Amino acid sequence: MEEFIAKLPKTELHVHLEGTMTTDLLLKLAERNGIDVGTREYLESRRSNYSDFMEFVEVYDINCSVVKYPTDLYEIAYEYFKVCEQECILYSEVAFASVLYQDQGFEFSQVIEPLLQASADAEKNLGVKSNWILTLVKHLPLEKNLKSLRDSIPYKDKIIGLGIAGPEVGFPARNFESVYDEARRIGYKNFTAHSGEFGDPRCIIDTLYHLKVKRIDHGVRCLNDPYLVKFLADSDIWLTVCPLSNYHLNVLKTFFEGKHVINELLEKGIKITINSDDPPLLGGFLNKNYMTVADIFSFKGEAESKRILIKLAKDSFTASFLPSNIKEDFYLMIDNYALTLQ
Ligand SMILES: [Zn+2]
Repeated sequence: MEEFIAKLPKTELHVHLEGTMTTDLLLKLAERNGIDVGTREYLESRRSNYSDFMEFVEVYDINCSVVKYPTDLYEIAYEYFKVCEQECILYSEVAFASVLYQDQGFEFSQVIEPLLQASADAEKNLGVKSNWILTLVKHLPLEKNLKSLRDSIPYKDKIIGLGIAGPEVGFPARNFESVYDEARRIGYKNFTAHSGEFGDPRCIIDTLYHLKVKRIDHGVRCLNDPYLVKFLADSDIWLTVCPLSNYHLNVLKTFFEGKHVINELLEKGIKITINSDDPPLLGGFLNKNYMTVADIFSFKGEAESKRILIKLAKDSFTASFLPSNIKEDFYLMIDNYALTLQ
């Protein structure tokens, strides 16, 4: 199964730039930039144990703290694309939050230019395609988020969409309705938002109603409301689910008696994709998440499990913000791979 997953052409739609940093890369940048982040043992221990979401945010902030120059952002992105090459992730839509670097004096161009360069180099050298999702941060002031959006205007045609992340509870989506409306005026066309991870189904409804997104990042807590489940199943809204993230942040333990919910989501007809979120901080990169899904479906036997994973891989391309002709090329690659298994 590992080998099957390793060679399956995949995409991921929910992964955060700084969250892709391995401990090695974190220590390398910390040393180079003269920033004390503690020992490897300390960092590893913090990466496997979160008592709540804000503790995770603290760990994420350690990753951000080692970024001092635009070239650091290039390196983080390119290292992630190297993992994509190894894991047969042919395309990725990566969340970046330029708002995190405003206080350090980064201009918007100093954030986006190195990321676009890393994408161009990765496509040329590694065969990995990518796009960037400008991501707002819920617990930072609205004005800073709005500035980040407005600063992005010269690059709006090179940024594939807008998203929002950060803590949910106490930070309702409706607070950001004006920013999403502004983004539509500016010309952004694709929208996603984190919701329904820790927040109850009302948070998802709040997000759908006020931000009018076509994708929800996480969204698993929809299962706590049968009417919302029915609504989502009948809609063309996709959830970008992160099985290992839900496990490591105790979403499963707190709300679902510790059980994985992928099977239930699929049985109820909800459209989902599999993603890694913040891979080295939350259990592993994409293939490990696919392996987790394979384990969930192991009771169905190997052939059926593979069929489900192939469908999920295709669905991820469908849910992507890519134009349909490019999606077709990826479907074909997956179909050809499936044929080699027969
Ligand atoms: Zn996320």
